Amino acid sequence: AQYVYRFGGGVSDGGAGDRNLLGGKGANLAEMAGIGLPVPPGFTITTEMCTRYYDEGETFPDSVRVEVAAGIAHIEGVTGKRFGDAADPLLVSVRSGARVSMPGMMDTVLNLGLNDETVVGLAAKAGDERFAWDSYRRFIQMYSDVVLGLDHGAFEEALEIAKEDRGYTLDTEMSADDWKGLVAEYKAVVEREWNKPFPQDVHDQLWGATAAVFGSWHSERARVYRRLNHISGDWGTAVNVQAMVFGNMGDTSATGVAFTRDPSTGDNAHYGEFLINAQGEDVVAGIRTPQYLTRAARETAGAKAASMEEAMPETFAELAKVFRLLEDHYRDMQDIEFTVERGKLWMLQTRTGKRTAKAALKIAVDMASEGLIAEEEAVARVDPAALDQLLHPTLDPDAQRDVLTKGLPASPGAASGAAVFDSDTAERRANDGEAVILVRIETSPEDIHGMHAARGILTARGGMTSHAAVVARGMGRPCVSGAGMLSIDMKARVMRIGSREIAEGETVTIDGATGEVMAGAVPTVQPELAGDFGTLMVWADKVRRLRIRANAETPADCRTARDFGAEGVGLCRTEHMFFDAARITAVRQMILAADEKGRRAALDKLLPEQRADFTEIFEVMAGLPVTIRLLDPPLHEFLPHEEDEFAEVAAAAGVDVETLKRRAAELHEFNPMLGHRGCRLGVTYPEIYEMQARAIFEAACDVAAKSGAAVVPEVMIPLVATKRELELMKAVVDKAAEAVFAEKDRRLDYLVGTMIELPRAALKAGEIADAAAFFSFGTNDLTQTTLGVSRDDAGRFLTTYVDKGIYATDPFVSIDVEGVGELIEIAATRGRATRPGIKLGICGEHGGDPASIRFCEGLGLDYVSASPYRVPIARLAAAQAAL
Ligand code: PEP
Ligand code: MG
Repeated sequence: AQYVYRFGGGVSDGGAGDRNLLGGKGANLAEMAGIGLPVPPGFTITTEMCTRYYDEGETFPDSVRVEVAAGIAHIEGVTGKRFGDAADPLLVSVRSGARVSMPGMMDTVLNLGLNDETVVGLAAKAGDERFAWDSYRRFIQMYSDVVLGLDHGAFEEALEIAKEDRGYTLDTEMSADDWKGLVAEYKAVVEREWNKPFPQDVHDQLWGATAAVFGSWHSERARVYRRLNHISGDWGTAVNVQAMVFGNMGDTSATGVAFTRDPSTGDNAHYGEFLINAQGEDVVAGIRTPQYLTRAARETAGAKAASMEEAMPETFAELAKVFRLLEDHYRDMQDIEFTVERGKLWMLQTRTGKRTAKAALKIAVDMASEGLIAEEEAVARVDPAALDQLLHPTLDPDAQRDVLTKGLPASPGAASGAAVFDSDTAERRANDGEAVILVRIETSPEDIHGMHAARGILTARGGMTSHAAVVARGMGRPCVSGAGMLSIDMKARVMRIGSREIAEGETVTIDGATGEVMAGAVPTVQPELAGDFGTLMVWADKVRRLRIRANAETPADCRTARDFGAEGVGLCRTEHMFFDAARITAVRQMILAADEKGRRAALDKLLPEQRADFTEIFEVMAGLPVTIRLLDPPLHEFLPHEEDEFAEVAAAAGVDVETLKRRAAELHEFNPMLGHRGCRLGVTYPEIYEMQARAIFEAACDVAAKSGAAVVPEVMIPLVATKRELELMKAVVDKAAEAVFAEKDRRLDYLVGTMIELPRAALKAGEIADAAAFFSFGTNDLTQTTLGVSRDDAGRFLTTYVDKGIYATDPFVSIDVEGVGELIEIAATRGRATRPGIKLGICGEHGGDPASIRFCEGLGLDYVSASPYRVPIARLAAAQAAL
């Protein structure tokens, strides 16, 4: 196999299509070189080599040594410099690059090829001794950290002492001789800590760095990142070895990162940051405050330091040209790294830029409008799950805000929570159910778990492309970065902003859209669904086949669902209406009644209440189907369980405490999920379902009479296992319908159908379809009963199951296609055989999950039903499934 692919100097062994083999970075370097962009020459060692390296006990085969030598020769040929040459040394960077980008997760070594001899040559060639020794000390520190695994603290301390001794405050005050002295100290540190001198052989340096990059694939933080982002551990990383270019060769040199469009808002404006006379990592690390790319951005921010457009107009113009070229070529927003070495622009990386949901939407819609991509492509590009960010409330603009300070609006959305100052605390408190805001001076890859656990992230340092900003945007967490006024006292566990002090645990609010940081919680408002969002939804609706309904049981939820584009109610859980505080007494009287007569008396009180509920829902949903499910939960859920409640409840229900206790004990079940619930209630107490059916038809007739709107009730029987259960319940419903129609002198179309949420029902769907006008798959219970895993107790062990690969994802979130999916398929096939064209839908939580929606599309179901906020997600996911 070929393990080394060259690029640059008119050569490109690979291209953008080779991402799996070359990693994202390597593939795109080859692609950029191929389209004639200025890329420093280099080569990529493939991900296959990484896999082989691990398979063969972390060793390199001889063949790859030959290929790497040829790769080095390629770079030497293009640059005219020689690796390890004392007069004109070639220096290289060694960087990781996996198939998908894992920002900040893996290792990099810069300035490789420096030693006691080559540093002299570099100084002579660059005509800058200070630069050469500064580069060497940076290299020793980086190499010691990444490759030798030495603690960087010792190096930082040595630098601090060196500055103190000389009375300096800034690194820039260090002279060539000062750096030279520090290099000697650094080398002493290495000898002390590593028991061997710092490696002087440049080839040893290269193989050491290559092994370290491969090794970083299995680092703890890389593993955590992969788990959170569902990245396979088998992929491995590639290694990119590339000629160094220097952004730190004086004031005509610079380094920067940029996005071809604003990754936060999606605006079609050049966006990024750069630093004059600096090396790449300085921008990302957030140590110096970067300058803006464009004059406009600088002016908007009110910053003083010249923008790149002002400081280096010609190079900036060239960069702007590269932006256009890259977008036309990749037809997507790009995230790039560049360096300017003495006025010459070099491209070091391009990749599809991470973006907020808002930006993803705007960029997709804009690019389709600009003719860069088709409408379907725009629909395909927006991650449905990411829409979640847009569908949730933002801060009420009219609410009082106690603004503490303002940082950069790094990732949009608003969040309130308890301020916590380290990631372990964030994770612990979040696990206890608390909303937390992670507040750090700056974040590093070690903070991933805390950022994940937090509702929002606030940092004192770092720009819009700092680790915190990039990672937060990727995770969809609101983030304010670079709030420079903020300091954290870790001993006292307080944060200070000016004269204000916030102790750990006190509530703060951040607004990632404005950068504001506020004390206390701030009320929120509903999102706007017009504009780009509306446009994309229209495009999605053009391609989607599945209908989208909502699970909703209050008029307010129904209205939200309708606003979000729901085409009906797929599940109205009536028990939620029974729990209403005003009605619970009548419900309890019904349960406590000694006989049917007593139960009917209590049900008579509930009838008008239920009718009023349904009337409002039918009004809101006028013209659309509404599926109403008859009572499902076990009756004991309505009775008190705590000693101190008994007396009060007994008095309210008009029975004595003893009767209440006895009845509660009678109703107690060992396994209520498999107990007296669903249609089993209707079979034993038909008068309950009769009352509910009557309320439904009375309401439907009233609304039809009043508004003339078509009301289409679909009455649904839960937890059916046999055809006979359904027949009995359907008879109750039909009888109530006939009675109401006769009383009201009006007939309506309606359907009676069933949930399919037990394995037996799925298997016997052929028979059941005789009595059912529709099936709605209750995948919550179907998952519970098929897997034999309790919905309410699964949390304790399911994450371990997912971690160990027993289930690919939580089966209560995304359908277990192989098991539960097969039952659904059987039921659909058998149901259709009996009743061709039988209406099929799904109303479990899976109805709002994009992967499950894809599965439903594959089976040709008629609709999915999701909670109101997930309706737009379902619309988009259904469209993508149909593409
Ligand atoms: C289901 O079981 O999937 C369902 C929708 O019903 P519930 O969640 O109310 O049991
Ligand atoms: Mg159910």
